[in-house]
Amino acid sequence: MISILLRSFKQKIKKRKRILRLFLSRIEKKPPKKLDVLVAKLEKKVWAETDCLACANCCKSMSPTFTQMDMKRIAKHLEMTVLEFKTKWLRKERGTGDWINKKMPCQFLDLKSNKCNIYEVRPRDCSGFPHLPKKKMVEYLHVHKQNVEFCPATANMVEKMKVLFEAN
Ligand code: SF4
Ligand code: SF4
Repeated sequence: MISILLRSFKQKIKKRKRILRLFLSRIEKKPPKKLDVLVAKLEKKVWAETDCLACANCCKSMSPTFTQMDMKRIAKHLEMTVLEFKTKWLRKERGTGDWINKKMPCQFLDLKSNKCNIYEVRPRDCSGFPHLPKKKMVEYLHVHKQNVEFCPATANMVEKMKVLFEAN
């Protein structure tokens, strides 16, 4: 079931996504001074305002990339072979060749609690998502441009960056 918070995010982001993406493109071309230091401070505020368990939109709308290590670890946890695991749940993405979920929401998401059923062994892509604390943030702006539409934490971060950098 979609939470009120997530529903309201989806409505708001329809109007904001273009503006936020344009802002990210601008700072991609001309990164502000001390970008990484300033963003690290904003990130703390973002997480204090975020409730991932009321959201889980990443697990509902996007697929993580499963590395060979991820597949081995998760398959072992589920007492399956890697081949069985891949055959049951994954497909190769056209173009990138990455292994991703066949279906969405992710098969490991408990839709009632929004918790991950394989949390301890989840893919590295999931544990790092939405990749906000990158030392060289400028190299991840293209990722945030994509995620701003799906992840309330990313959108909040970019809104805060916009206020900060456009005021200076
Ligand atoms: S593996 Fe877990 S954390 Fe990753 S997308 Fe699926 S439910 Fe979400
Ligand atoms: S990381 Fe983003 S999309 Fe995923 S649950 Fe948290 S706020 Fe929602």
